Amino acid sequence: MSSKIVITIDGWSSCGKSTLARQLAAVLGYIYVDSGAMYRAITLYFLRNNIDFKKKQEVINALENISLEFIFNPASNKSEIYLNGENVEYLIRDLIIAEKVSEVAAIKEVREFAVRQQKKLGKGKGIVMDGRDIGTVVFPAAELKIFMTADNAIRVQRRFKELYPKNPNISIEEVKNNLEMRDYIDSNREISPLRKADDAVILDNSNLTESEQFEKALGWAKEIIQKKERS
Ligand code: C5P
Repeated sequence: MSSKIVITIDGWSSCGKSTLARQLAAVLGYIYVDSGAMYRAITLYFLRNNIDFKKKQEVINALENISLEFIFNPASNKSEIYLNGENVEYLIRDLIIAEKVSEVAAIKEVREFAVRQQKKLGKGKGIVMDGRDIGTVVFPAAELKIFMTADNAIRVQRRFKELYPKNPNISIEEVKNNLEMRDYIDSNREISPLRKADDAVILDNSNLTESEQFEKALGWAKEIIQKKERS
């Protein structure tokens, strides 16, 4: 029997979910999937094609023309997202996308489209996926569910540091407003709102270094994997 497990990492925006997910996947030899990248790529498509998100049929038609794929890039050492054959990994990190993505991700048809693909990716186990509804909706039977959180001010600083080199005109205020807005929409939407799964462990990394949080999470994963190997 395979001792591979499914690890889900959900939480607020800019908590460092993807950093942790990527590190865990690398050391365990698992696949890492950034589910937020899928919602961001869909948003990019909608913006480029002037899709009116409020019109259900327009959204449905647009989704029919979207194909998403993750392809590993040895140069960046990570899987990057492709939208209809185009690498959009860097374009989707823009604040223009961040400003609209939560609105797009709240649409029922969009979620169904993304979740269907996410479930398929997890069929073979051995996967770490991060997002907002991964432990609650995408993989409710996952063996290890982590819910990440951190102080607001720390999260704003982290995201600012990440965006500033690409966009030196960006202000702390803009980043703060965007995080607050996304967290509000993500946790108050009707379909699959962001919440901690009942069986998730909380990881508050406000006062943890990257390597401390990694050791903690890896310890949880190893314990579960070893238990599975013995049974
Ligand atoms: O993780 P990231 O910040 O890139 O996600 C961008 C946005 O995508 C989130 O703010 C949220 O609106 C949406 N999202 C979601 N469900 C997920 C992952 C992301 O609704 N599983």
